[in-house]
Amino acid sequence: MAEDHANLKEVPLKNVKIKGGLLGYKNELVRKELIPYLWKVLNNEIPDADPSNAIENFKIAAGESDGEFVGMVFQDSDVAKWLEAVAYQLTSNPDKELEKLADSVIELIEKAQQPDGYLNTYFTIAEPDKKWTNLAECHELYCAGHMMEAAVAYYQATRKRKLLDVMIRFADLINDKFGTEPGKLKGYPGHQEIELALIKLYKVTGDEKYLKLAKYFIDERGQKPYFFDREWEKRGKTSYWSNFRKLGMDYFQAHKSVREQEVAVGHAVRALYMYSGMADVARETGDKTLIETCQKLWDNITKKQMYITGGVGTSSYGESFTFDYDLPNDTAYTETCAAIALVFFAQRMLHLDAKAEYADLMERALYNGVLSGVSENGKKFFYVNPLEVQPKVCKKRNDHKHVKPTRQKWFGCACCPPNIARLLASISGYIYSDNNKEVYVNLYTDSTADFYINNKYISLKQRTNYPWGGKVNLAITTNEMAKFTLALRIPGWCKEAKLKVNGESISIDKIMNKGYVSIERIWDNDDTAELILDMPVEKIYANPQVRENIGKVALQRGPIVYCLEEVDNGTNLPAIYFPADTEFSVEYREDILGGVTVISGEALRLDDISWTDNLYRTKETKYKPIKITAVPYYAWGNREPGEMLVWIREGC
Ligand code: ZN
Repeated sequence: MAEDHANLKEVPLKNVKIKGGLLGYKNELVRKELIPYLWKVLNNEIPDADPSNAIENFKIAAGESDGEFVGMVFQDSDVAKWLEAVAYQLTSNPDKELEKLADSVIELIEKAQQPDGYLNTYFTIAEPDKKWTNLAECHELYCAGHMMEAAVAYYQATRKRKLLDVMIRFADLINDKFGTEPGKLKGYPGHQEIELALIKLYKVTGDEKYLKLAKYFIDERGQKPYFFDREWEKRGKTSYWSNFRKLGMDYFQAHKSVREQEVAVGHAVRALYMYSGMADVARETGDKTLIETCQKLWDNITKKQMYITGGVGTSSYGESFTFDYDLPNDTAYTETCAAIALVFFAQRMLHLDAKAEYADLMERALYNGVLSGVSENGKKFFYVNPLEVQPKVCKKRNDHKHVKPTRQKWFGCACCPPNIARLLASISGYIYSDNNKEVYVNLYTDSTADFYINNKYISLKQRTNYPWGGKVNLAITTNEMAKFTLALRIPGWCKEAKLKVNGESISIDKIMNKGYVSIERIWDNDDTAELILDMPVEKIYANPQVRENIGKVALQRGPIVYCLEEVDNGTNLPAIYFPADTEFSVEYREDILGGVTVISGEALRLDDISWTDNLYRTKETKYKPIKITAVPYYAWGNREPGEMLVWIREGC
């Protein structure tokens, strides 16, 4: 381990309970709605949705059913992510029926495993002779990675080893197949994911070969001559996906050695899964160059290539990063999975070095770009999360075809919905971190957490209505006095924070440490800390290099980014202006969107009445005063379909 870093770790899920609030509500939504809904989808039981066939594929591969493979070449990963979400769910809410169902799926997976340990229903059913011949395009290692994550999560939740043993057998086969030793394939995945999964497998088994294999995949990537070219020539220059070859090596982050990469390029989800795996390997090995690379890539993404919502991946072509400050609002791709992957990367960076900026970003992506991916009822999903939508344009213009103006029941490529389920099911694992002498509170939400600090049991109870209010109360329960540091994040958005310990005001300036206020003391039973984070409505400006946002502002309150919707503000939202001195008021509305704080304010709207049927003229347009209502971006599209806008004109 890298001794000179904070070495924080995630607090085990079983030690943290979310009690309510927005995150609690979303966590509960996974249990009540997403898991049952996804199960129906995996079994082709949702009318009018593209059939997933994912469970049937496993039945065919297991010899329990006849038929053809249906779906994407990575269809197995949907089952894996569902199982992983179920595992997290079982940790916080034991459920015998659900566990029985998961056990039956695991039994099926075991039967679908080949005698040598191989597991992938596409190749087993459709192309058994072509295993490991097209790593660039066919996701074998990606699916393996997701199933390893599910196996580790299920073992940790239930202590049942069956799926873990299945995936150990498969990991051992992969370890025999890949590497630099003579006779092995010097390959690496076309879609990264297995790197971070192997670290999880290493941690749960203690077997170093999985750490070495993860490091191998990272070290080998981008070495010349390119492996993806070599395997393409070897298989007779054929492709699984037409035009895939045209995407170029940077699509896969395989254009140069990983340690030489300084700018985020290519497919955003691939990139962020890889950076997460790199941060994991760096942490386990103390590899300083890898840590520096992670930091450079982090800076590039968060300072130059990220939307205010924490969405990343500007272009629909290649679902990819483009170039610095290229952040158009209406064609933004910003896949839900990319925001999820940014949360993964942010948590790993935080655990390498406990800077609040990492947790700030984790929070930004979570509350905005991730939560927007799922409807209030947990049954509809966005894959693409733009910051400006005009429904007509999505229908009529080819360059907007990827943007859906309403959430969908399902997708042919269904990576996002089960990814949301597994993140929200495990969200309690992101609230706190510790390292045996410090307890970090990264996210504020009603919850309790148990820690062992120097072998002393500490329970921390957090009470707050965050993100709608900025008051956070923390209470300690302990059997014996314990010396430790309680580190509370002062969010980057907060300009004024006040702290009280046992009712006594404490100046936070002197005890700030990398954006966390560090309260080091001997804590006793019933000790309390109270944090008050000032949470006004803020107008946010973008760097002028972001062309689309020149002359515009976005509204943010606390961690929540707001938007205007047609249902509240009429059509043609870009005709709305904020005068420079607009004042805003806020109101918590329990009756809409599952309970949200809405922002109201005075604004102006270009008055088009006098235009009659003119298209152009010399006379200026008059403004008329209007009142606007802004709602959280994540909650848009849950009422009547219509326009949506995040960046609003200012001035006039
Ligand atoms: Zn996705």
